[in-house]
Amino acid sequence: MPTSLSFEAAWRDLNRRSTILWLLLFGCFPGVFLLLYLLNELLLQDAPILGIALAWMAAIAWAGIRMASFTCPSCRRLFFENWYFFKPLRRSCAYCGLQR
Ligand SMILES: [Zn+2]
Repeated sequence: MPTSLSFEAAWRDLNRRSTILWLLLFGCFPGVFLLLYLLNELLLQDAPILGIALAWMAAIAWAGIRMASFTCPSCRRLFFENWYFFKPLRRSCAYCGLQR
């Protein structure tokens, strides 16, 4: 039986994963242009915008996969995903119904 401490650590981990994903999603346009400015104007690297945008998209995919792979602290199955659908805004476990 998992303790409340392991639940707390699991929710903290989930919040960290969620924050990274939302920051990458909402910071997409300013982040790409800020990186472009820093690389091209300050560091004189001549970086292409397509390369930076692709790297940003890869980072979003990485964060999404981390979010999707979060396991429920109660039943140890995937929290957001059941056999037919992935719902990242879910407030309870897809299997045991444990509230977030
Ligand atoms: Zn569960």
